[in-house]
Amino acid sequence: MMMGMSSRRAVIAANWKMHKTVAEAGEFLDSFLPRLDPDPGADVVICPPYLALATAVEACAGGGVTVAAQNMHEEPEGAFTGEVSAPMLVEQGVGGVILGHSERRAYFAETDEALARKLPAALDAGLLPILCVGETEAQRDAEETQEVLRTQLEADLAAVPDEALANVVIAYEPVWAIGTGRIATQEQAAEAIGWARSIVADRSEAAADAIRILYGGSVKPDNAAELLEHDQIDGALVGGASLDPEAFAAIVAAAQA
Ligand code: PEP
Repeated sequence: MMMGMSSRRAVIAANWKMHKTVAEAGEFLDSFLPRLDPDPGADVVICPPYLALATAVEACAGGGVTVAAQNMHEEPEGAFTGEVSAPMLVEQGVGGVILGHSERRAYFAETDEALARKLPAALDAGLLPILCVGETEAQRDAEETQEVLRTQLEADLAAVPDEALANVVIAYEPVWAIGTGRIATQEQAAEAIGWARSIVADRSEAAADAIRILYGGSVKPDNAAELLEHDQIDGALVGGASLDPEAFAAIVAAAQA
């Protein structure tokens, strides 16, 4: 087993989904930020709902924590009722955006075609995109995981130039592990991340070497360290456990151990 030899800087990201009002986001950060090591040894990213972004940006200012959105539209402006664009996020001091989360793919008709436009739009605006990919349980049972990752990654990254690929963060999130408490084993996560990395390598070996690929799905303080010690696993995208400041701080600390 390869352990901890990677030169890639870890990313630990909190996906709050549709949780926390502005006041609750402020309370979280009041508790979380003092728990954070001044040099956490990982890029820490917090992804609140849109309405709490400005409060989070203000609270995190100068503290080395990046605030990211959970989605965005690919056009800078236009007749797209209910949508938010990259320039609007940048104006608020937002530094990144989750794209293609499985909940958006499953419940809000997010397509690979739209993601192919969102990725370059995010990069051009200077946002760090966190692109989520992953198979359903039925696809894993049918041994289609590798094929699903190839289809999603090839399509979603199609319009990102080779030299910009390393500026994307990929999150491998098996759908069966999200919000279920059923975490992938270290071996399953590392294997799938290895496949994802080799798909990037088909475009650019240098990008595959540099790109950060995270695991997401039921990461908790008590299972984070084992996952994160693996050389292939460059960090975590955390849902449920990121809502609690103590638990999320413990996961960030696990990246350092
Ligand atoms: C997620 O939604 O990205 C996620 C990984 O959720 P959870 O940690 O709750 O499984």
